[in-house]
Order: sequence, then C-alpha cells, then structure tokens
Amino acid sequence: MATATPLYDTYMRAPLRFERGEGVWLITETGERYLDFGAGVAVTSVGHSHPHVVGALKAQADKVWHLSNIYEVPGQEVLAKRLTDATFADKVFFTNSGAEALECAIKTARRYQFSKGHPEKFHIITFEGAFHGRTLGTIAAGGQAKYLEGFGPKAPGFDQVPFGDIEAVRAAITDATAGILIEPVQGEGGVRPASPEFMRALRQLCDEHGLLLILDEVQTGVGRTGKLFAYEWSGITPDIIAVAKGIGGGFPLGACLATAEAASGMVAGTHGTTYGGNPLAMAVGNAVLDVILGDGFLQHVRDVSLVFRQGLASLKDRYPDIIEDVRGDGLLLGIKAAIPSAELLAAIRAEHLLGVPAGDNVIRMLPPLTVTAEEAREGLNRIEHAAEKLRAERAKKSA
Ligand code: PLP
Repeated sequence: MATATPLYDTYMRAPLRFERGEGVWLITETGERYLDFGAGVAVTSVGHSHPHVVGALKAQADKVWHLSNIYEVPGQEVLAKRLTDATFADKVFFTNSGAEALECAIKTARRYQFSKGHPEKFHIITFEGAFHGRTLGTIAAGGQAKYLEGFGPKAPGFDQVPFGDIEAVRAAITDATAGILIEPVQGEGGVRPASPEFMRALRQLCDEHGLLLILDEVQTGVGRTGKLFAYEWSGITPDIIAVAKGIGGGFPLGACLATAEAASGMVAGTHGTTYGGNPLAMAVGNAVLDVILGDGFLQHVRDVSLVFRQGLASLKDRYPDIIEDVRGDGLLLGIKAAIPSAELLAAIRAEHLLGVPAGDNVIRMLPPLTVTAEEAREGLNRIEHAAEKLRAERAKKSA
C-alpha cells in the first residue's frame, strides 16, 4: 500500500518544521519561535547553536572527520580522562547512542562474570517502567510489552521487578545473576526518581552477592539533575554507567564508563564500533564538557531548577484540576496531568512551549541546562496560559 511519506511510519510526528535553533529557542521555517523545554529529549544540554560547541565542531571538520578505532584517536583519550577524573570510573568506551552505551554496559557486566569463571551469570535484574533503548537487547532489558511485541522472542537474561521494591530485588537474585540495571530517575517511565535509600540498598545487595551495579544515566547524566551524574545524590558509586544524550549536546555520542575491575573482561577483540568516538564527536563532547564543568555551571542548574520547580508547584496548587503532581530532580521535571497528558501537552504547544510526553500521564520538562531563571519564568507563564484555557474550555463543555 502506498503511503504519504517515504519515511517509516514509526513516529507520530507533530506538524512542526524547525529550521534554526538559538539557545532555548527553536524557530520554524515560517519564523515562529518556540521555547524548547524538550531539548530533543534531554539532548541539547547547552542549548542550540552554542558558539563554543559550534566552533569546536567547525574547527575539527577542517582537520579530520573520521578515524577508525584501529588507530589512536587523541580526542578520545582527552574526553575519557576528563570523564574518569570527574567520576568513579577508570575506563570509557565511546558509542553513538544511548542504546549502544547500554549494550556495552550489559556486555561489560556479563563479560566480567564470564572472566571470573562464571559464564552462567548473565542475568541482569531490571525494573518495571524502565526504558533503555530500542535495540533487541535494550527492549528486553526495558521489558515493556509495547516495545517487544512482534519482534520475536525476547532476548534472554533480563529479570524484571517492581521499581523501588528492594525485597523483590533480593528475591530475584539467583546464581545466574550478573548485575542490576536501573535509571536513577525513570525518564520515559514518567519521571520517577529512585530514592537515595533504594540506591544505597541496591549497592549493598550488589556487594553482598558479587553483582555489578549498572546505572542508565543516558537521560539523568551530564548535569541534568544538578550534579554531573545523578548517582552522586545518593552517595554511592556504581560499577558501570551508560551515558549519551547531553554529552553530545545534539551530536550522536554515547559512552560506557566502568571501574577497571568491572571492565576487566573487555579485552582486545571483545567489542567494537565503526563510528563510536570519532574525531567530530570527540571535539563536540569535549566542548560540551568545557561548558558543563565550567565554574558554577551545576550550581546554576540547581538554582534554575528551584525557580522552575517552585513555579510548577504553585501552578499545581492553583490548577489542581489540570495538574495533579510535579516531580523529578534538577531540570528533569515531570508534570503529572489531572487530564489526559496529551491534551495538556497540545495546549502547552499551542502556547509555543515544547515538552516531551512520558508514561504515567506525565509531561517531561527538560530545558537546556543553560536556561536562565527568566526563561524558566517565561515557560511557567506559558503553562499557566495553557492551564487557564483548558480550564475555561472544560467549564464551557460541562455548562
Ligand atoms: N536510556 C534512557 C534512560 C533513555 O532515555 C534513552 C532514550 O530516550 C535510551 C536509553 C536510549 O538512547 P538512544 O535513543 O540514544 O539509543
């Protein structure tokens, strides 16, 4: 059957065509300006067209675009050193996407157990509501029926338990368990933070049973929650983390970070990628880190988060018929709607403010981390206008 577009029909796209981006703004082909609090789903961490990042990409483009990983790639050494200096990790593998960073993390954990003489330990415990990507491995890890349906047997080795239920985790550990994989804040699942106590309890269980604690920080990482990585809030350190989105600021870049011990099974020949860590990606990743690790930047994220969050809480108090709850950390905030969230999202978009849908009837607000308090207030004004209009429409309907 002929279709209207030559593209796969996998996306339900909004009829918006953006031509340019400037900071927190996206501008359509016809010149309309939208406040972008979706940031490409937590990707444009330093805003659109950040001059330092654009400059780094252009400078690298004039030198060399691509080098195979059969050669040394100097930008990789630099970025990996900066990431390991700033975190628990000793080793880094660069990828092009979040799902690939997760694949590397899962392989690293399995291979660790294998190299310690336990090939039978390949199961990973994951959590209901999780989202880890769309490869065959990561849809199995995420365990969501809607993403698994029709793609053949689910890849084996993932055991899922309810989010936040430490007794269920304990009960799921068997002689075949290699590790535990969790998002510190479930993004797609509806902006559901794991409590610091839960994270600490997971660490303890991993230590007791010789398991690796793997964190999916694809959405929460690189400053999104107001720390460089979200695990820092709980005071524990993981063994492996998967990173992507914000690290590339819009350039396809991901990374798997691990302790030397956790990565000890990943010897020459066990993993590889053509593009992962190519010179263009490394130039961008290093430039993004210049901004994120700059003096006072993470404090700025925490300060603006407070303004935005308090404003959202006030809107919830004034519009309980529209907003049921506000949750999340840093600039990964969720508005749980009291009406169908798609209606609220559409009403917000009509005010030229962009957000992102999530599970549990939640809208995600993920502005670039460079967003100012003034821009956050502008976003709040637009949400208030949307809520006011929705309330009026509903009153009219019920009259
Ligand atoms: N993990 C989490 C927590 C994510 O939010 C996403 C993407 O939304 C992924 C993994 C997959 O990343 P990618 O789409 O870059 O493969």
